[in-house]
Amino acid sequence: MSAEPTANAAPEAPPAPSDFIRDIVARDVAEKRHARIVTRFPPEPNGYLHLGHAKSICLNFGIARENHGVCHLRFDDTNPVKEDSEYVESITRDVRWLIEGWADHCLGFKPKGAAPAAGTVNGRPDFHLAASAPGADAEPFFASDYFEQIHGYAVELIKRGKAYVCDLSPQETEAYRGAPDHPGKDSPFRQRSVEENLARFARMRAGDFPDGACSLRAKIDMASPNIWLRDPLLYRIRHTAHHHAGQKWCIYPLYDFAHCLSDYLEGITHSVCTLEFEVHRPLYEWILQSLELPRTLPHQYEFAKLNISYMVFSKRRLLQLVNDGAVAGWDDPRLPTLAGARRRGVPAAAIRRLAATVGVTKYESVTDVALFEHAVREELNAAATRRLAVLHTVKVVLTNIAPGDAVTCRAVDNPQDPSPRAREIALTREVYIEQDDFAEVPPPKYFRLKPGGEVRLKYACIIRCDEVVKDAGGHVTELRCTADLATRAGHPDADRKVKGTIHWVSADRSIEAEVRLYDRLFTVPEPGATDDFQRHLNPRSLESVRARLEPSLAAARPGEPFQFERLGYFTPDAKDSRPGALVFNRTITLKDTWAKPAGKG
Ligand code: ATP
Ligand code: MG
Repeated sequence: MSAEPTANAAPEAPPAPSDFIRDIVARDVAEKRHARIVTRFPPEPNGYLHLGHAKSICLNFGIARENHGVCHLRFDDTNPVKEDSEYVESITRDVRWLIEGWADHCLGFKPKGAAPAAGTVNGRPDFHLAASAPGADAEPFFASDYFEQIHGYAVELIKRGKAYVCDLSPQETEAYRGAPDHPGKDSPFRQRSVEENLARFARMRAGDFPDGACSLRAKIDMASPNIWLRDPLLYRIRHTAHHHAGQKWCIYPLYDFAHCLSDYLEGITHSVCTLEFEVHRPLYEWILQSLELPRTLPHQYEFAKLNISYMVFSKRRLLQLVNDGAVAGWDDPRLPTLAGARRRGVPAAAIRRLAATVGVTKYESVTDVALFEHAVREELNAAATRRLAVLHTVKVVLTNIAPGDAVTCRAVDNPQDPSPRAREIALTREVYIEQDDFAEVPPPKYFRLKPGGEVRLKYACIIRCDEVVKDAGGHVTELRCTADLATRAGHPDADRKVKGTIHWVSADRSIEAEVRLYDRLFTVPEPGATDDFQRHLNPRSLESVRARLEPSLAAARPGEPFQFERLGYFTPDAKDSRPGALVFNRTITLKDTWAKPAGKG
């Protein structure tokens, strides 16, 4: 017997629907506006990636893939306070996992340690950093690798009279900004001379001022209806070491300043982000245009975020769940993080399938979790090897099979396979079945095992329950049954019908394992709506049982998908499973148990 994964693929995920962003890219390709399409996925390394980020990854890598382009993985690491290398590593791992076998060839990395190289375009100085193949000597892009160039662009803005050093405190700056319905007020420092601004900005960099003492601001328009254009901050002082840039800086560019310039430096053609950045777009364009840069400018396009019911995606809330111990870490299989989904056994292809199904629009909405679960089942139905396992056992003694005897039966590995493989399993005198596949007092239309009744053991034969043995407390300890061996496949009564078929494992030819049964983490469809969201935690989101499995499962590898027949899809846990102390995670049940009471039979 072998537990190799079947080479099956699910029916190809729906083709990526065309959407307004892909239409724009297609137009630009048709008009030959770019030598090559370059997109980017720009996470801030301040948390783990989740299914929402996956939508952005699938879109950005999808565009690159469909246009023979490249998608840079770039860390937008301009705020040293919240960022950490742990997140850089987890994000890199998760992105690679999600695109493996689909868009790995589009992954844009840069040569290790490389920073933008100086050059000239049309006689004007320029910097540029292009992608290389993601081999051993390559690494993701980091916005912090451009701090020197970004600083240079800030100096250039000052020289052009388009930026100034402002000594207002953060609170005063806020008060001067005004509100959407009334204009802000000019800072008293707005009219500083270029020389004074250059000198003060140099002192900011040199560390002459404490955090918050002053900042560099763009000189745009304090009366603009768009609040982001009211002299936004470009640089602030933070005497904090940086996870990637080290001790070198005590001033850091703000996201809006660094992002457009990072896009430019990397030659990004289409900078695709989520809707909350729509109001930042005029600033994105103002910065690039004010610098009169020599190369083609990137353009920003926005789409609606993915939200899924019964999940929270906010990094703040996810961090809270991790820190409060509500879950066992960022990769807890109940979390919607990519690390959690992978550990739970969700195939990357299922996540890509979901992204293709929900599409790309400008309308914020909540996607029904059932759509995600459907995508997971579609993938696993094709990919998962079938095995028998019993989660809540009750012993059955087949009194007409002698102790030590074994009746060999054949079981199919995956009926979805065009030429399915089969394996041998042993029917022995003692087997286990599920407790709820037996009812001493059966409800109407109960087709599983009952006193005096018959049921088929899948892949084996029909058995009849002759006697129910109980302990002193009245609990069923054993069902004594007769096996009708003439009803095995290939035997004279193979076609004899009974209404119920149940799964089973041999008692002595099975192995014990811990099986973790996961359910939704929250009990309400929109748990993240309020700050007290933890009161909606599902107290039954994890049940751990001691189960009995077919022996071949001892060789299963984490991530390898299995269907435990009639129960759901399972995979070994990557962290806790060991030889001799196996742990399996339930990825998902076979049917949606939330829509209606569990279907059995
Ligand atoms: P925050 O900015 O609060 O730290 P974030 O979830 O926006 O959190 P980023 O690291 O900025 O995290 O996200 C990286 C990219 O993923 C951004 O381009 C962002 O627009 C995109 N993204 C984030 N959340 C979603 C989502 N739910 N659906 C689609 N794209 C998303
Ligand atoms: Mg963000």
